[in-house]
Amino acid sequence: MRFDILTLFPGLFRGVFEESIVRRAIDAGLVTIAIHNIRDYAPGKHRITDDAPYGGGGGMVMKVEPIAYALEAILGEDLPLRQKRTGLVEVPIVLLTPAGRLFSQAMAREFERYGRLVLICGRYEGVDERVSQLFATHEVSIGDYVLSGGEIAAMAIVEAVTRLVPGVLGDMRAIVEDSHSADLLEHPHYTRPPEFRGAKVPEVLLSGDHAEIARWRRREALRRTLERRPDLLEKASLSDQDRLWVEALRRGETPSQEGE
Ligand code: SAM
Repeated sequence: MRFDILTLFPGLFRGVFEESIVRRAIDAGLVTIAIHNIRDYAPGKHRITDDAPYGGGGGMVMKVEPIAYALEAILGEDLPLRQKRTGLVEVPIVLLTPAGRLFSQAMAREFERYGRLVLICGRYEGVDERVSQLFATHEVSIGDYVLSGGEIAAMAIVEAVTRLVPGVLGDMRAIVEDSHSADLLEHPHYTRPPEFRGAKVPEVLLSGDHAEIARWRRREALRRTLERRPDLLEKASLSDQDRLWVEALRRGETPSQEGE
């Protein structure tokens, strides 16, 4: 998987990709991350990357030319235009913006399948609309709030996509069970000690009965999702047994171990 990140602040990425899972994925040759300073592509002696908005108003707007030249240097002149012309995406060009589609696990899976992703980080009041018009294949927001720049959003996307690259996680079960993977929140986790300040680990997890543990985890995932994100249950694919448990939970009953 290759990520190309366009930013005015390359230094912000120092450190964040130098530890833990992303670092291991880079070291293992599974992931490449190239950080491109948009300023390097700005024409003129002063390498200006922003300007005042047409129509007036406060703040500055990132100019289209440096971003266009950066994209063309990274992807070739033809590819960005071809993608827009044909609608066939070969390399997603993602413009980070609070006005974009909300990033999700499904989107992370979609991006991973392309094998390459370009992320454009905005700053100031945002980016000249022609970047979206001429180049961006996706406009993505990481949440309904406003950050000062797209860098943290790019980091979040890189991390979420990297986890999905085959071979990056030692245990691929984590990907299947993670919250949002199947439109359910994940069950709770416990580790030693079995009791801390009176709070005990549920008995079933100590039982060694793997079938029963799996059933308990599924029920807890359904319970959490119902309590915290009932909207997700609408689109989750549920078995008949799941539905029985959900109905029981909705009635305020604690489903029996058998769940019937
Ligand atoms: N004036 C813009 C608006 O209201 O939509 C906000 C600009 S914001 C201060 C500067 C940059 O931060 C944006 O261009 C974008 O790249 C990034 N950004 C801010 N919030 C974001 C979010 N929730 N998701 C993704 N990127 C975000």
